[in-house]
Amino acid sequence: MPYSVVVIDPGHGGEDIGTRGVAGTEEKTITLAIAQRVKTLLESSLGVRVVLTRSDDRRVSFDERAAIANNSRAGLFLSLHLNSSPNPASAGAEVIQLRQGRLAGGRGRVVDDESVALPAPGGTTRTVDLVRWETAQARHLDASAALAETLEAQLRTRVTMSARPALDLPLRVLPSVNMPAVVLEMAYLSNAGEEGLVQSDSYQDNIAQAIHDTVVQFSALAEERESR
Ligand SMILES: [Zn+2]
Repeated sequence: MPYSVVVIDPGHGGEDIGTRGVAGTEEKTITLAIAQRVKTLLESSLGVRVVLTRSDDRRVSFDERAAIANNSRAGLFLSLHLNSSPNPASAGAEVIQLRQGRLAGGRGRVVDDESVALPAPGGTTRTVDLVRWETAQARHLDASAALAETLEAQLRTRVTMSARPALDLPLRVLPSVNMPAVVLEMAYLSNAGEEGLVQSDSYQDNIAQAIHDTVVQFSALAEERESR
C-alpha cells in the first residue's frame, strides 16, 4: 500500500445535525457511525491509519476539516454525507467531486499568514498554517475524478445508485483539501426506506467494504502513476 494514511470526514456534528429523516434520524449520527466502521475495517485489514476529522458528536468547521486532512499527509480524503430531497421517492448513493468551474469562485482568498488552531490531545490546541487555502484542490482534480470513478464502480455492485444528480452539493470542504478528495452522498434520509436502511449493519458494512476496495484499487492506480 503506497498510502499509509486515509482521511474520512464524517459530515456535520454538534449543533449542525445535517439533514433529518422523517423518523427523526440525524445525518450527523449516521455519518459518524459509518466513518467509525470504515476506520475499523481499513485499519484491521489494510494496516493503514485512518484519520477521522471528528470522532465524536462535535461541530468542526470546513477549514478545520481541511487542515486536519492536509496535516495528516494522507493519500485520499473522503467526506461522508446523506442526501435530502423534497421528493420522498428520491433514493440512492452518489459520488461528487469538485470541478474546475467551482474552484474559480473560491479564488482570491490568499491567507499565507493565517493559521488555524486545531484541537490536540490533552485539551490543548496546536496552530497550523494555511497555505494557498481554497485552491489546494486545483492540482488534484484529475486524481479526484479517478477516485470518484473508482468509488462509484465499487458502490454500484453493492448499493442502489441515485438516478439523478444531487441538487444540494456539500462541496465546501473540498477546495482546501490538498489531496485527491470526493464527497459521498450515501443515501437519501428523506426517503423513509433508506432512513431505515442506513442504520442496518448490512448497509453500513456494504458502504465500508466499497470504501475498502476503493482504497486498495485507487492506491494501486496512484502507485502505477508514480512509477511511470
Ligand atoms: Zn451533509
